[in-house]
Amino acid sequence: MIGLPFKRCHCWVCLDDSDFDSTWIIHQCGCQLQIHKKCYFKWLYSLNKEHISQQLRNRSNGLISEETLYKRLCYLFDGHRDFYRNISFVENIVGIPIIGIPCFTFICIPMIFSFETLGVNCFSKMITEYPLPPPITSVYCPQCKKYIKKSDLDITSDSIILKLSYWGKKLIRWGISLVAISLPIVNLGKLWFQLGLWQLRQVFPEEILTALCDISTTKALDVYGGTVNGILSVPSSSKIVIFGFPLYLLGLAGDYDLFNRLRWLAPVVALKLKVSNDQSLNIARTCINISYGFISLHSYIIKPLQNKYYYKMVKDAKPYYLHDNEDSEGDTILDSYRGKYGNILISTRIFDVFIEATLWPLLGRIVGEKIFCGFIWLQNNSYVTYQPDASPNSLSMIFNFAGMGIVSLANQVFKGYVTRLRVQELKELQRNTMQLDD
Ligand SMILES: [Zn+2]
Ligand SMILES: [Zn+2]
Repeated sequence: MIGLPFKRCHCWVCLDDSDFDSTWIIHQCGCQLQIHKKCYFKWLYSLNKEHISQQLRNRSNGLISEETLYKRLCYLFDGHRDFYRNISFVENIVGIPIIGIPCFTFICIPMIFSFETLGVNCFSKMITEYPLPPPITSVYCPQCKKYIKKSDLDITSDSIILKLSYWGKKLIRWGISLVAISLPIVNLGKLWFQLGLWQLRQVFPEEILTALCDISTTKALDVYGGTVNGILSVPSSSKIVIFGFPLYLLGLAGDYDLFNRLRWLAPVVALKLKVSNDQSLNIARTCINISYGFISLHSYIIKPLQNKYYYKMVKDAKPYYLHDNEDSEGDTILDSYRGKYGNILISTRIFDVFIEATLWPLLGRIVGEKIFCGFIWLQNNSYVTYQPDASPNSLSMIFNFAGMGIVSLANQVFKGYVTRLRVQELKELQRNTMQLDD
């Protein structure tokens, strides 16, 4: 919205005067129509109501209750509705600027076509839209008879962090979708192998990796990873470690039941680092076991607490797309999210999980290195006299583990904070569009 600051505005509907702020719309087509957003919504609401009752008289179908109409208005003006909305595959691809439509035409349509011919019914699952916008979505400007642009009316919070995280999520979704549609032309197995190796290298030093993968040098794995036959010739136990590590991180980041059940495999894999005189192997094993302990602690103590926090926020926000008051139907929907209430306000999708899991070891190492530097500094300035009995490589590995823990916790705190901002935004939106009668 382009508005002149400190301008005195006069509402065309309620005839009130006040200084210009975010509650105002000024029509920028030259006519300078001034109107409260609230008043505009009220107007749109009554137009819709009229339209619906007319339809009822004529054909007695398309019944929309007042409550549904409120919800649909909220949906229409929710500037950040992708935070919760199910976005279909088709809409996602087509929505990518510039390349979206060509991609869809030349890659997706042939793909969908061939799947459908093979009898895989995927098209119907690709189109979803919920809830619908109201029958009338826009009103003519009474002065210049042009439409008032909808983007001027969207209600979004002023928080930069919320805007950035909305756009960040959008970019991630687009990026991963593009990767996903190009998967048929790349070799997924090779890519996954290289990803696993790269992630392992972020956390473990060379001497630990060679022990974990039963190989004399990990350079050999790079060579094997270059071809399919090479990957097949890697010993199975190493394949489990390399292919399994990205899956393991994906499971931790995404909290999927299946992966949660397989979590105990990590300490089992750690058994490969046999108890020996080699101290760095012992340290690595301890690191894996301690991290396993922390992960279990997290899922038994912190996760339920987080859930309570998110549950409270959902109850506080009363999102228009979920339920109105404490009605039983709403609670049933709420129950279907059991254990994942955070997803109601800002849904974490597979795209987000994938990016989080992929970058996790890298970010963990960066943070770990920073702490390591800090530790060295403290030692050099003799604030810390403790001299750990470990090689520099083992020490940096310990800090990598700690770094990954810190990154994960920071990410969760950040999500909690963004969700809080979103709750405020939803309340603001609903205050403006739902309580039209005061
Ligand atoms: Zn007004
Ligand atoms: Zn106008």
